[in-house]
Amino acid sequence: MKACKSDKITGNVHSIETFGTHEGPGIRFVVFLQGCLGRCLYCQNPDTWQEDAGNNMSAEEIMEKLNRCYPYIKSSAGGITVSGGEPLLQMDFLCSLFRLCKKRGVHTAIDTGAFFRPEDESKLPMLLSLTDLFIVDIKTAEKKLHKLLTSRNLDQVTRFIGLLEGRKNKYWIRYVLVPDLNDSARQLKKLGKVLSGFHYCVNFQFLPYHTYGRHKWDYLGLNYPLPDIKPATDKDIKRAERITFGRK
Ligand code: SF4
Repeated sequence: MKACKSDKITGNVHSIETFGTHEGPGIRFVVFLQGCLGRCLYCQNPDTWQEDAGNNMSAEEIMEKLNRCYPYIKSSAGGITVSGGEPLLQMDFLCSLFRLCKKRGVHTAIDTGAFFRPEDESKLPMLLSLTDLFIVDIKTAEKKLHKLLTSRNLDQVTRFIGLLEGRKNKYWIRYVLVPDLNDSARQLKKLGKVLSGFHYCVNFQFLPYHTYGRHKWDYLGLNYPLPDIKPATDKDIKRAERITFGRK
């Protein structure tokens, strides 16, 4: 197993949230890392894309902040979640942070689109051994559409999930349901078929597409690519669940 570098490594941090309730079990201390290789058409955090922005922080500095919140996090059976951007662009830092978390007994999770650099793939087994839960975002189960929606190849995401399956690592999957983009009956049936082959996925959620992050595109001077798409409704989510899981 190739080791992640362990000397004084700093992470490039976009922001920290001390009371996350959607990024894993219990209350989460959420660290958003800077940098992403994806360019998802409906990204709500385009301000995390640039790799050379953000604040440099050491794992020790993050632990110091986490320690202050740990009493309520622990009592909720929560932990730390690293999100982004794409956290897997900073694997050495993740290993260094999660080693400290493991020493402290903190539950560790990573929220990822699996858009890591191919040359870092050999570091994944080490990171996996330090991570209690992966939350993997799947944008679509169709290769061509995946490239169109994200600018990245679906194969890498599939390989990453294959790695989790092979190691019997439990994981969650989330799918942002975007009306008229990735919600056709054909696509959802395909998604259902793909999911039925995932044995260690212990939680699947459709998340409704929303436009809360659109102002960030405007602020950054970027053209929002989906100006006419409406947010997904509860009814859309229920329909998607019915089709994906073959419910009446
Ligand atoms: S992977 Fe996440 S952060 Fe990166 S572009 Fe897509 S939605 Fe945005």
